[in-house]
Parts: sequence; C-alpha cells; structure tokens
Amino acid sequence: MRRGVPLVISAPSGTGKTTVCRELVRRDPRIVFSISHTTRPPRAGEVDGRDYHFLSRDAFAEMVAAGAFLEHAEYSGNLYGTSRDALLRELDAGHDVLLEIETEGAGQVRRSGVGAYLLFLLPPSLEALAARLRGRGTDGDAEVARRLQIAEVEFRAAGDFDALVVNHNVEDTVTAVLEIVAALRDGRADAVRAERSLERVRASLSSPLDDWVQR
Ligand code: 5GP
Repeated sequence: MRRGVPLVISAPSGTGKTTVCRELVRRDPRIVFSISHTTRPPRAGEVDGRDYHFLSRDAFAEMVAAGAFLEHAEYSGNLYGTSRDALLRELDAGHDVLLEIETEGAGQVRRSGVGAYLLFLLPPSLEALAARLRGRGTDGDAEVARRLQIAEVEFRAAGDFDALVVNHNVEDTVTAVLEIVAALRDGRADAVRAERSLERVRASLSSPLDDWVQR
C-alpha cells in the first residue's frame, strides 16, 4: 500500500485556513486532519478530540519531555503540538495527513524528515486579513492586534514553503489545493513547486503584503 503524504498548511490567523482544511477533508476521503494538542482554552463550539486535544501546560510539558511531539511551538501565549505517533499511524494507513500549523512548527516538520509538503495560504490583502480577524468575533481587540503582529512575522517565512496559494475564495482555494494533492500523488511535486513559487504568486499581491512576503 502507498504510504500517505503529510501536507502542512500554514497561514496567518484570519486567512481562512480552517474553513479550507475542513472542506478538503470533506471532499477527499483519503485526506485526514491531524488533531493538534493545545493549552489554549476551547472557543465556543470547539469540541475536545475533534478540533483539538485540549490539555494543561503540565500535561503538555510531560508530552514534550517524553518526546511525543513531532513538532511543537508557542503561539500568542499558548502551546500547540503534533503527536508523532498519531501522524505516523495515519501515514502508515495510507492516508494523506493535513497539518494545520503555524510557521515555526512547519519548519520543524520540514526538518523532521517525514517528507512533508509545505503549503502557505495567503490572504488577498492585509485589509482582508484584519477584517476577517475582527469579523469572526472569536478574539478581543488585543488578541486581534497580537495576531496581526504575528502575521507579519509569518509572512516573512512564506519563501520557505513549497507552494503558495492566495485565498481569494474558499471554492477556488480548495480546488487549487486538491490539484496540488493530486500532483503530489502522481509524483509531480517539483512541477507544483515551480507553478506555485513565491515569484509567481508575489506579483498578484497588493502592497505592503508583497513587501512582507520575502525570499
Ligand atoms: P488557533 O488558536 O487560532 O486555533 O491557532 C493558532 C495558531 O496555531 C494557528 O496558526 C494554527 O495553525 C496553529 N496551530 C494549531 N495546531 C498547531 C500545532 O499542532 N502545532 C503548531 N506549531 N501550530 C499549531
């Protein structure tokens, strides 16, 4: 049986990556979502074991000490990590596994040697990003401001990713990512890298986003 491919999707908070990831899993039964561990308190509507495994900082630290995480990182004061065993089990079962994680963790996954393909999702503009963060109403003003600051740092990592996709709307983005997944399954990863490179995508971004997205 073919082994699965880990597919990392990173994007600044507010880009719409959770919606895109949900839709990918719904449309392609061979893709499974990697459920992360986090010390962040659940938001309204989030379910333990479905959206995240929610745990205390002590329990998280124990997992770090036991080497249970393939990658882990701090984001806006909370800890997030991907269980190594859970990921490898899914890959061995032939599933392609979607890891929706921030950029620091994405770098760790790259260096771990699991052979992941790294996708970076971009908002069409900074205005769109800020509007979405404010509009979803899950975070207060201070948290929105903090997430926008982190976004600037994350944009600068975009050049380290294999492929970039601008999220103009969910439908087009999901179609584009499913095409990328199909190409990966066909062994055409290099072709996707060339088509979706930073140079190609950058031209379609408005300022100052294009300045932040650097090689
Ligand atoms: P949120 O609090 O909005 O759910 O997630 C905050 C950030 O943490 C997002 O960028 C999300 O992709 C990232 N994240 C979620 N799970 C993980 C994980 O397991 N590892 C890392 N490094 N980041 C994660």
